[in-house]
Amino acid sequence: MATKKLSILIVDDLPSNIHLLAEIFSDNYGIFIATNGPTALEMAHQTPRPDIILLDIMMPHMNGYEVLQKLKSDPATALIPVLFISAIETQESQEYGFSLGAVDYIIKPFNPNLVRARVEAHLRINHLYVDILRENSMLTGKIAQLESEECNDKSSLFQELFSHTRDGVTLTDMRGTILSVNEAFTHITGYTIDEAYGKNTSILKSNRHDDLFYEAIWQELVQRGLWSSEIYCKRKNGEVYQSLLSISTIKNKKGDVIYYLAVFCDISHLRQAKDQLRELTFYDKLTSLPNRTLFIERLSQLIQTLKPLNQYGGALTLDIDNFREINVLKDITVGDSIITAIAKKITAITAKDAVVSHLNADLFAVVFTKFFDNAEDAASHAMQKASEIEISIKQLSYEFDHDLFKLRPSIGVTIIPGIKENLNASDIIRELESARMASKRSEGGKISLFNEAIGSALKDRLELEHELLTAIKEENFELFIQTQFSKDLCITGLEVLIRWKHATKGYISPFAFIPLAEKNGMILEIDKWVIKESFILFQKFQAKGLDYPISFNISSQQFQRKEFVEDMRNLAQHYNYKSGSLILEITEYTMIQDMANVTQVMQELHDLGFAFAIDDFGTGYSNLHCMQDLPIYELKIDKTFIDKIPADNNSMNLVHVMMDMGKRFGYHVVVEGIETQEQADTIYEINPNAIIQGYLYSKPISQDEWFTKYS
Ligand code: C2E
Ligand code: CA
Ligand code: CA
Repeated sequence: MATKKLSILIVDDLPSNIHLLAEIFSDNYGIFIATNGPTALEMAHQTPRPDIILLDIMMPHMNGYEVLQKLKSDPATALIPVLFISAIETQESQEYGFSLGAVDYIIKPFNPNLVRARVEAHLRINHLYVDILRENSMLTGKIAQLESEECNDKSSLFQELFSHTRDGVTLTDMRGTILSVNEAFTHITGYTIDEAYGKNTSILKSNRHDDLFYEAIWQELVQRGLWSSEIYCKRKNGEVYQSLLSISTIKNKKGDVIYYLAVFCDISHLRQAKDQLRELTFYDKLTSLPNRTLFIERLSQLIQTLKPLNQYGGALTLDIDNFREINVLKDITVGDSIITAIAKKITAITAKDAVVSHLNADLFAVVFTKFFDNAEDAASHAMQKASEIEISIKQLSYEFDHDLFKLRPSIGVTIIPGIKENLNASDIIRELESARMASKRSEGGKISLFNEAIGSALKDRLELEHELLTAIKEENFELFIQTQFSKDLCITGLEVLIRWKHATKGYISPFAFIPLAEKNGMILEIDKWVIKESFILFQKFQAKGLDYPISFNISSQQFQRKEFVEDMRNLAQHYNYKSGSLILEITEYTMIQDMANVTQVMQELHDLGFAFAIDDFGTGYSNLHCMQDLPIYELKIDKTFIDKIPADNNSMNLVHVMMDMGKRFGYHVVVEGIETQEQADTIYEINPNAIIQGYLYSKPISQDEWFTKYS
């Protein structure tokens, strides 16, 4: 049998889209083209009618929704399946389109295989649909005719009539009680003819539709005598399937409804094939994540969405430097399980705020869907997420094997829609790849932000921030010790000072990261580590019989935390701390924040056996009156004054005043930053009991060095 060549009507105002679509279909279909709504409506009425319509939504004058409404309200064109072509795939726009009667959405940019498969599936479904309508109308006519004839055993006549039908058939009385079904019915639903007989059709109801849906069917049947659509039904074994169903009413001579006739077919396999194809074209088999095609599509969409909104998001690509080695060393299945594990980690960290894609082998990409009003915040967010991902992947390595598999990820980050005007998806991918390559080349930071994404100062800050976060998680710090001496060079105590032990840059001074940590709140975690380590040092001292007071620095933020006292109480208990040998150094600035609260916290900590030193004394504005009531043990005169003595008169005067004050209040006085003998002599002249903490006697040194030297 010669089949008629099917035809497609393409409606789009953009020549480039028309061209692309026409190319996909021109080999197998007749192509009609309309560049606007009115022309499309005209062409849809031509004979022969187009078999399917691909309809753009965004068109000037008459948009796709209007065109669809007009097509559906006209019986001549109502049955032609319409697929929307759209660059935006929001839930609302899709739901709206479906509510108007669209059968599917095709998202730009097109994937030719997918578009072809979808169009084919809809053509087949439509073909079946037209078939069951024809069948229904034919059977309705015949039943009505038989009904009017004098005959004793109508039911066997009906049975005979239905048996020739390929589609499922159900005849019921006006209450929905089944009078007759055919073999195809049994084949699709699983109920035998005997089982079905006398039952209500509600046995076929799935719970996928609400009451309103069924209500609408009845209304349509009352008004028009015919209802048809796609519907979910349930087989005898409980399985839900998609079916094309048409129901008609059959009346007697008086015009009363006596039967309902349903003709239906099972289209689940067509629907499933369509979904599977989507899986194949858009999703990666191993990880079930979106693949490169879908990634590019999503990225393009986001760029388009963000541009007019003046908002920014972030994106990253990631791969594993030593993945190839692992694959060679172990077999492919290990490589596969690593990839799956990485996919899970990334997905867990980015949660709902991102689209994670698996591009190929060990290459992943993430587009963040959390948006910001400025590029800096977007970059900062993406960098932080990148850090978290990096850390979790590094941790993952241990789960496989201890030494062999230390995964080394390299990450490139950029922002979208980009700083430069009119970047498209491939430009952004190029930026990501260039940043990722920079990470690969660099020895230290394995996360890089694309160079031009934002200013270089901010870029440095963000990269430092990410490295610091990693350092905190991995505890890449060390506590150095600077010893304090009395005039006769006896050790009177010590201050522990943090150093960041960087993989490539060596020890990094706290001046380089504490201010940043105070700004972004990471200081809380750093302080926590310092406090814990100070307790550990305290225990070490106890074990060795040393009883020097140990001073450690506490940030203002830490001191103001509600749980601070409670935490210190727990730690004291845990490390069996009772004596007064731990000294908390707080600055004048901390002290003047919230005097009432500070007084209480200090008092409570004092009761737990902790002492207090006022750090950088003289640089702030202490309320001398209040200081009197505080449990202060020690004042630390700041290096800025010492730097200028004995030459600068003003500094000399201030040092005099501070020393005198310490003496009157009965505080210990520690002088910081003594580098020369002259400075030391000047200080001892003012106060021979002053304690000196300075390079002249000792620089901060590592604990190893300190224990070798002093214990
Ligand atoms: P700070 O608490 O005033 O610590 C004294 C700083 O002066 C230390 O610098 C010490 O090495 C330095 N110093 C001591 N004597 C001399 C000297 O004779 N000459 C010179 N040029 N410097 C001297 P460091 O260790 O670099 O620490 C700098 C600042 O970083 C500290 O000032 C403190 O504010 C902060 N910091 C250090 N460790 C920690 C910590 O564990 N936690 C917190 N929150 N902050 C810390
Ligand atoms: Ca200090
Ligand atoms: Ca100080």
